[in-house]
Amino acid sequence: MKKVSIGIDLGGTKILIALVNKETGEVLHHVKKKTKKDKGPQNIIRKMVNGIEELLEESKFHIEDIDSIGVGAAGQVDRENGIIIGAPNLDCYDLNIREHLTSHFNLPVYLGNDVEIAAMGEMKFGAAKGCDDFVCVFVGTGVGSSIVKDGKIIHGATGTAGEIGHMIVDLNGRQCACGAHGCLEAYASRSAIEKRIEGALRKGRHSAILDYMETGKSISSSMIQKSIERDDELVIQCVNEAAEYLSGGLASIINFINPKLIILGGGLIEAVDYFYQTTIKKARAKCLPVPATKIEFKKAQLGDYSGVIGAAFLK
Ligand SMILES: [Zn+2]
Repeated sequence: MKKVSIGIDLGGTKILIALVNKETGEVLHHVKKKTKKDKGPQNIIRKMVNGIEELLEESKFHIEDIDSIGVGAAGQVDRENGIIIGAPNLDCYDLNIREHLTSHFNLPVYLGNDVEIAAMGEMKFGAAKGCDDFVCVFVGTGVGSSIVKDGKIIHGATGTAGEIGHMIVDLNGRQCACGAHGCLEAYASRSAIEKRIEGALRKGRHSAILDYMETGKSISSSMIQKSIERDDELVIQCVNEAAEYLSGGLASIINFINPKLIILGGGLIEAVDYFYQTTIKKARAKCLPVPATKIEFKKAQLGDYSGVIGAAFLK
């Protein structure tokens, strides 16, 4: 087996394409393409193909040196046939990634989702190195997770296992983007915190976050962090509330799956340590005493690279 593969993280705002040394986990070279404006299947394929060509040219690697191409997409995927079933953020439906990439590069092409490749990256070279029973939870625009058992990702009957974002935490709660009421994602994501803050500001509450906000732009994790550093009452209150719900979700996972380790990652966790610390403290207090004795929490370590590194290991 050749030791270098191409890992691709296909997200709603960018495509990250990298050459990965599978023995060391090193990213030898990478290319980034924005997907914000040019969505749709034709644009996505074109950007991936151009990106791979650029990557090879800039790195002086030849296609013969590459073992495989692994793609993790933000959406629902058919792993067996290499098809993106539905990725609303990319405006891609029924897109045969394998067929398109194989016809251009004549290499084996494997497909997974964005959360599983990130979990795989953390397992191979990040926070879960040496641990084969864990759960990864990523908190950003939404809340996603991946369950790893005996070193393998659990996919479930329809390939959608790990949808912790749609765990129902309030029966009569807020409406979620999925249509149901009271999903964790509607309480514990960055966008949920954003909605709470904006709602309070509309009612006349004051907040330091107003100093960072710009019309038409969303509230970022770093704006939340800067406001916490200024002891902003409203932002701290909204973050505490999100941590309360997320810790409830994590406690349920701990009781249900009894993992050794939970890895937390994603934009909100990376930028806001207070949110991470508050959440894990509360999760420990909420779960049952016996599983609580074994559970360990860690932050994801590979940042933006976790996806491409993990994607290189898809098969
Ligand atoms: Zn939902």
